[in-house]
Amino acid sequence: MGIYVTFWGVRGSIPTPGHATQRYGGNTACIEVLAGEELFILDGGSGMRSLGQDILNRQGHPSIKAHLLFSHSHWDHIQGFPFFIPAYSGSSIMKIYGTNANDRKIFELLHGQMQDRYFPVQFSDLGSHIQPDHLDNGKKDINGVSVDFFNTHHPGGSLAYSISYKGKKVVYSTDNELDMLLLNRDATLEDTSIPRRAPPELLNFLSGADLVIADGQYTDEEYPSKINWGHARANTLVDVCLEAQVKNLAITHHDPMHSDDMVDRKIQECRERVARFNGGLTVFGAREGVTLKYA
Ligand SMILES: [Zn+2]
Ligand SMILES: [Zn+2]
Repeated sequence: MGIYVTFWGVRGSIPTPGHATQRYGGNTACIEVLAGEELFILDGGSGMRSLGQDILNRQGHPSIKAHLLFSHSHWDHIQGFPFFIPAYSGSSIMKIYGTNANDRKIFELLHGQMQDRYFPVQFSDLGSHIQPDHLDNGKKDINGVSVDFFNTHHPGGSLAYSISYKGKKVVYSTDNELDMLLLNRDATLEDTSIPRRAPPELLNFLSGADLVIADGQYTDEEYPSKINWGHARANTLVDVCLEAQVKNLAITHHDPMHSDDMVDRKIQECRERVARFNGGLTVFGAREGVTLKYA
């Protein structure tokens, strides 16, 4: 048993149904990670509704035992939670993690979005057992799975997570204006061909990952008009993942204005950059419904 990753929502900001987005998918952030026996759900965007439906179909019942890790509470990362079928099952147990024992921010915000002004069913009426839990201000071992987090650069904050199991490592780092963390940001804004250099603590967090799933919403051309919006240049991800010796990079949080063809072009640009630097990194666009296995 290794780590299985399934993409249920790969769009940023707002769900974007329609023919122009049907290949990559229009649902907002939700990733399923199965590590050994433990089920992790990363973010609860609108893709979480499809995950719930799939769990019901594959098991024949909706009950789960799962660990929920939220990057942050912007709408596109929590809006699917009220539509997640397993949350209504009396035998489901779901743990919602903060970074430490005092951090119940996400737990409370999930309550908040289900107040009767916003939604017909209240959080306290969900049938499942939903418990606040926490990481240990850093790494935590959950039944042989090591989970860690990193504070990224995003308005209001956002967390990246790493999940390691039996020598395999997957990192989820969405909603991160990676460019703001660079050591040579100004120079690389001026000259996009220069390799972009990340700080050592970030390289260490990403180091040797089998898969990094990360926000690379913008092309180099688009980014200058989106500074401070909280999202990264896809090419910056490439450079940082090359330096951190990451094996595979799945670019996610696709821009709601990007058609499938535009995402294809962005990914192609990234692949050309890898080739230019003679790197061994595999880059692809995260796509709804795809499962990857690392074992
Ligand atoms: Zn987002
Ligand atoms: Zn956000």
